[in-house]
Amino acid sequence: MIPRVAMFGTGYVGLVSGVCIADFGVNVICVDVNKEKIDGLNNGKIPIYEPGLDVFLERNMKAGRIQFTTDAKKAIQESNVLFIAVGTPPKENGEADMQYVYAVAETIGEYMNEYKVVVDKSTVPVGTGQIVKKIIADKLKERGVEYSFDVVSNPEFLREGKALYDFTHPDRVVIGVESEEVADIMKKVYRPLYINETPFIITNIETAEMIKYACNAFLATKITFINEIANLCEKVGANVQQVSTAMGRDGRISPKFLHAGPGFGGSCFPKDTQALVQIAEKHGVHMSVVSAVIQANQRQKKMVVKKLEKVAGDLKGKTIGILGLAFKPETDDMRDAPSLTVISDLAEKGAKIKAYDPQAMEEAKKVLKKYADSINYCKHAYDVAEGADALIIITEWHEFRNMDLTLLKKIMKGNIFYDARNIYSRKDIEEKGFVFIGTGI
Ligand code: NAD
Repeated sequence: MIPRVAMFGTGYVGLVSGVCIADFGVNVICVDVNKEKIDGLNNGKIPIYEPGLDVFLERNMKAGRIQFTTDAKKAIQESNVLFIAVGTPPKENGEADMQYVYAVAETIGEYMNEYKVVVDKSTVPVGTGQIVKKIIADKLKERGVEYSFDVVSNPEFLREGKALYDFTHPDRVVIGVESEEVADIMKKVYRPLYINETPFIITNIETAEMIKYACNAFLATKITFINEIANLCEKVGANVQQVSTAMGRDGRISPKFLHAGPGFGGSCFPKDTQALVQIAEKHGVHMSVVSAVIQANQRQKKMVVKKLEKVAGDLKGKTIGILGLAFKPETDDMRDAPSLTVISDLAEKGAKIKAYDPQAMEEAKKVLKKYADSINYCKHAYDVAEGADALIIITEWHEFRNMDLTLLKKIMKGNIFYDARNIYSRKDIEEKGFVFIGTGI
């Protein structure tokens, strides 16, 4: 079977996966319910900021290997490997909201016209593969037709900001299947990786679903661990950067995800840690470590304004400059960004906020509507600094790593420089006459 892929969802994961699979030489039809996104994509307009995506998209559009449509029926009937890459956002109680995944499964059942492989790429609770199977089977029964199909779990590990590289150079590809024949079809989809000796980990569906949550919960734990070590470093005069460098040199630990900061955010770690706790509770298992991580991360985000207050005193009427809004550099994703906690805490305390982010300003304006009266969005870092009592670096974009400190000192009203990401040294900042606050240094 020569794979022809339909990709449901053109968000951060679906769009990158669709474009990269097309780049592997496979014909791909991307489907989304959002007509505006699809119209834009058909005109070469990319709805998200992801470095390099424009180049990949143009190349594959020119080659005629990728199409964008809202027509689910056409995509299903013209393809044989159907990926589900729609959102699984958190519900109020922390559970994953599965309505979008289930809706795609229903649609597949409605239009299926021959054998299909249905691949779940969204991050979903363990057991979802079997539910998707039942939804499709029920729909086929309702239609009074009989087609065979297989369900696969193929979780995605890409990082926003490095998504193209991660998709095309993964540490491993995880495939949860019920038969070897289906695993072979998936290897064809990923053929350039498979023949280049990327490890393929073939498991049952439940194991593949579990792997994704286990990975994200572990990484969130690692970040939270070093954040708590940083908090202690501040009290005892130790330097967390040197602690993490030394820890990272230990081959058993690795240096990645050992950078102390204002807490983790983004569209994955906060929601996936919560979802894992909920899944476990349902099965009568208490995830004590992950539960503690969630709480510690909340405290870490709240700590930013508390630490600022200790140095700056009452924040009412003070002007605080925020550098970086996205949850990390090289993305415009504002979902669960630590900046949201910092800004809401500042606004609640009556501070005036000046803010700038190289890519996330539009998204930030949407999610921070409630605080619109308190925020002045600026054109660049120096614009933020002008007249500010304090400056806080929340996201470590490259352009904040090399600022003219003399100029900053001159144009600021106050002298507090809060580097929540530890991209400057205390010595360099203090030498310029600032009061320095870092995270564990
Ligand atoms: P997203 O919100 O950016 O995109 C989801 C897209 O699905 C939207 O464009 C939406 O319009 C579309 N959609 C909703 N219902 C649809 C339907 N019935 N048919 C077709 N399209 C539909 O989400 P995302 O960040 O790409 O995440 C998708 C999944 O991948 C989630 O489960 C997430 O946890 C997981 N994941 C995300 C990342 C990441 O870095 N963002 C990494 C790995 C895994």
